[in-house]
Amino acid sequence: MRKYVIMGVQGSGKGTQSELLCADLKLVHISVGDIFRWHVQNHTKLGAQVRRIMALGELVDDDLVESVVRERLDQHDWNFGFVVDGFPRNGRQAEFFMESYDIDAVIHLELPEEEVKRRVLSRRLCPGCGMDYNLIADRPKVEGRCDICGTQLITRADDTPEALAARLRDYAEKTSPVLELFRRKEVVHDVDARPSADDVQAAIRKTLGLPAYTPAG
Ligand code: AMP
Repeated sequence: MRKYVIMGVQGSGKGTQSELLCADLKLVHISVGDIFRWHVQNHTKLGAQVRRIMALGELVDDDLVESVVRERLDQHDWNFGFVVDGFPRNGRQAEFFMESYDIDAVIHLELPEEEVKRRVLSRRLCPGCGMDYNLIADRPKVEGRCDICGTQLITRADDTPEALAARLRDYAEKTSPVLELFRRKEVVHDVDARPSADDVQAAIRKTLGLPAYTPAG
């Protein structure tokens, strides 16, 4: 059983690296942001509660986040383990998490602020199938259209310069202390997030002592 948390500023590649890590190790990727985005897109009651806060780049209420995380982990569909992405984001969430689950490692993706801005502001998302694109490194084949399902790509509501600034502020104020908490438990693995996605994945696996990544197919 492998239980990991992945941390890093917005745009550091948490989602991509989690997916690569989960693919052949049969881990389950639990992205709190993705769960919320699903609710917003599907107009659920929870979606209505978080939509505005998310669009502003602010943090959703702790009770709500904790219940979402608990409900997700209670599904126990993670026989081989999980990678939690986007949680915990502040001291209280970290306490809740550490009381309930033992963590084997925290992967910390490090990215300089200039690179964060460059990456985040060029990010595009397919509202149809959830596929992520990046106009710098990972362009769609047809401009503005999803390669998989052809849906018109959108910019995430919180990928604006204003919302990004708010999220970076929140990260520095609230999430950095969480990292310090995990550091004291000696579970943090710092990884340079600047290289290509494959190279970052290789570095993650090396530091965690995991088998090398074997792309499917
Ligand atoms: P992310 O995709 O991780 O950047 O999350 C997108 C948005 O979802 C954040 O800007 C928050 O509004 C909300 N969110 C995600 N995870 C959390 C969390 N652990 N605590 C509070 N809000 C969160």
